[in-house]
Amino acid sequence: MADSPVVHWFPGHMAKATRMITEYIKKVDVVIELLDARIPRSSANPVIIELIGQKPHIVLLNKADLADPKATKEWTEFFMNKGITVLSIDSKSGKGNKKLLSTVERLSKPIIDRWMAKGIRSRSVRTIILGIPNVGKSTLINSLAGSAATRTANKAGHTRGQQWVKIGKNLELLDTPGVLWPKLEDQRAAARLAMTGAISDDVYDLEHVIKQLITHLLTNEPQILVERYKLKETEMTDIDTIIESIGRRRGCLVSGGIVDFDKARRIILQDYRNGKLGVITLDRVDEEPYYADDNEGS
Ligand code: GDP
Repeated sequence: MADSPVVHWFPGHMAKATRMITEYIKKVDVVIELLDARIPRSSANPVIIELIGQKPHIVLLNKADLADPKATKEWTEFFMNKGITVLSIDSKSGKGNKKLLSTVERLSKPIIDRWMAKGIRSRSVRTIILGIPNVGKSTLINSLAGSAATRTANKAGHTRGQQWVKIGKNLELLDTPGVLWPKLEDQRAAARLAMTGAISDDVYDLEHVIKQLITHLLTNEPQILVERYKLKETEMTDIDTIIESIGRRRGCLVSGGIVDFDKARRIILQDYRNGKLGVITLDRVDEEPYYADDNEGS
């Protein structure tokens, strides 16, 4: 949710979230893990694999409409090479839902076969959507459940308000997503989480985040800055000059014709988040892992 409340992930909250997710996972047969296609590494929860254990698991690269298709293909291969089932989707438009349902059904086949062998015919396969805040869990649930007319009644033992929604022939989805905490100890991931809107605007340093975003663009796709903001070569010298030039073009001026840097930074951030800078994937498959003693951008 773009306006979701501030999420502070302290050890106590993480312990509580771990307990809840563990309980949820016990109730389901297949786990759907939502990642942001622009940051598949940074948007992954650090301990999710341990929590999922041996249950069948699908990684969904969501917001694929905002990611670079070439990078999404590379990430898809990356997960496939690890033996993980992966799909890219755009849950806002519902693109990919059909494929998702058929993939869950394929992964459930051995489970259903085992049930059949035991004479259990009436049971549905149950699944849940897990992911960090703002990755698109509610959007996907609504999109999958939108056409599903039947929501099963609350049964004893289920948390009040939680329902199983029928989303396929033998398939039910928990209508409450499992909220995972983001990877905040990794500073590179934290900056990218902030860029994409996964962490609330009041828990990061805007100046640092925009510096990282512009550095990424200058290194990988400088033409985006030139095209979007009509920057001249003489304005592409350093980060402050770039922000100042963008601010001037976009009318972020205070008295005396001075550029309001903060306002300019917010415009750049909104442009990135809304896809106005184009399709940009920040996490690269072949990137070096981040180590705590890296002092990138500090
Ligand atoms: P949640 O916190 O994980 O439940 O995330 P939401 O479902 O509330 O989505 C967060 C924001 O991302 C909302 O503004 C959605 O409209 C947007 N969103 C979700 N999925 C997609 C997608 O596939 N593409 C795009 N462009 N936006 C999406």
